[in-house]
Amino acid sequence: MSRKIGVIGGGFGGLSAAIRLAKLGFNVDLFEQNETVGGKANSISLDGFRFDTGPSLLTMPFVLNELFDFVDEEINDYIQLQSLDILCKYFYSDGLTVNAYSDRGKLINEFSTKFGESEKLIEKYLNYSKQIYDLTAELFLFKSFSEISTFLNLSALKTLLQINKLDTFRTMHVANESFFNNKKAIQLFDRYATYNGSNPYLAPATLNIIQHVEYNLGAFIAKKGIYSISLALESIAKNVGVNIYKSSKVEQILHEKKRVDGLVINENVKKYHAIISNSDVNNTYKNLLGDNSSKSAIKYSKLQPSSSAIVFYWGVKGNYDNLEIHNILFSDDYQNEFDEIFTKKSIPSDPTIYIYVSSKFNSEDAPPNSENWFVMINAPFNSGQEWKIEIEKLREIIIRKIERQLGISLRENIVCESILNPLKIESKTSSMYGSLYGISSNNKYAAFLRQRNRSKEYKGLYFCGGSAHPGGGIPLVLLSGKITAELVEKDFK
Ligand SMILES: Cc1cc2nc3c(=O)[nH]c(=O)nc-3n(C[C@H](O)[C@H](O)[C@H](O)COP(=O)(O)OP(=O)(O)OC[C@H]3O[C@@H](n4cnc5c(N)ncnc54)[C@H](O)[C@@H]3O)c2cc1C
Repeated sequence: MSRKIGVIGGGFGGLSAAIRLAKLGFNVDLFEQNETVGGKANSISLDGFRFDTGPSLLTMPFVLNELFDFVDEEINDYIQLQSLDILCKYFYSDGLTVNAYSDRGKLINEFSTKFGESEKLIEKYLNYSKQIYDLTAELFLFKSFSEISTFLNLSALKTLLQINKLDTFRTMHVANESFFNNKKAIQLFDRYATYNGSNPYLAPATLNIIQHVEYNLGAFIAKKGIYSISLALESIAKNVGVNIYKSSKVEQILHEKKRVDGLVINENVKKYHAIISNSDVNNTYKNLLGDNSSKSAIKYSKLQPSSSAIVFYWGVKGNYDNLEIHNILFSDDYQNEFDEIFTKKSIPSDPTIYIYVSSKFNSEDAPPNSENWFVMINAPFNSGQEWKIEIEKLREIIIRKIERQLGISLRENIVCESILNPLKIESKTSSMYGSLYGISSNNKYAAFLRQRNRSKEYKGLYFCGGSAHPGGGIPLVLLSGKITAELVEKDFK
């Protein structure tokens, strides 16, 4: 008899685990509370404009390719991934603009010319980032922390013996400052802390690995938007036999004597041999298991969530040639911005603004002579702020800043609008406090503190997704699903 697995949540993590287990012969049911799968990677349509709701950039595409290979599917039949000539255009308040090219030679030349740093130094920095990746990726990203064998092998030993090269003891900012003199260059490289919702002035320099992921391994868009990846995963899940139940919120995980054995959905009980939660770890303990007091429930509730975001989805009249697909308008005082987000827990007074315009590569995303602007700022996780009032003020600040820096009229050209805030992120995806990436990496032990993929507390319970190992962001949650599926396979062989 094939083993029955219940998966809670159809984010990338849950889909990745479900697809693999179905392919391995398990009988998999996946429950998604929303009408569509994809979780944070969703889509909205407004007055002829379409927007990706969450992620806009895909890194480590080989992780996605491997999932399609695993189920003998051809990825190009579903998604057209495309690398970009300019990964991101950076705007500084004094008028300087810097293009981050995907071509290594052009990138180094641009950074060197614009920042006045030597080409040799930039090369050295990219090699430093690569070295951290080469030493850490296998152990920290691709393997389960639930298995002792992960740590007891030659390659892990090699990593641990070279701990000084992992740059764990400095912060990202201190490390970046040790390379560069130019404050703008330091700010640009510090920015990568936000790729997992952290603060570069606190996060360990090991996270400077992210620059290698983007500049050396490449960053991609999907021709029909990131949401096309969600749809593709749904299709291949169905092809391998995953039963997907949408608009089906799991209300409870049933357990007896610390063994889970079923789910309650719309008051119906369904029995399973194992349960995988792609829901936020804290939500799983508190609301699905009804557990506020076990060691794990207490431990995870005390960890600092990652940052959240406020996103304005604006349909904008006109075409703006000075914008690329991905753009960053930096703040003047980056340290203060992170201090406001993580210490004061307030919306930054001078926020760094990210603008993503998918209609620049997919004209179907906006009506003629218009663009779809996804305008995002990093924000604190929800701790009861007056979001409505704060967001009204923020909207003004952002519009003025964009108009000033780009030299355009924006206000009267916004023809439609929708806004995402931390409360909505929490209510839509059950991410506690609206955090984007699970827990923050604002201390050097964060990688070890995340929820392991196999529960120690509850037999038969597994976790995948941004709040579990190895962390948030598309490639990592896909890997999280992979690691979890491998554990389930091993346990139920
Ligand atoms: C605005 C924004 C921008 C981002 N930008 C990027 C980016 O550019 N690149 C990148 O790599 N990452 C980015 N991220 C992060 C990335 O989106 C996430 O790390 C990733 O998508 C999370 O996947 P997940 O599987 O962990 O969870 P989620 O996407 O949160 O999915 C969890 C799913 O579980 C469902 N669920 C939860 N509880 C229940 C329940 N009780 N019953 C049924 N269903 C339930 C939820 O509805 C949801 O669909 C961004 C995120 C946001 C919000």
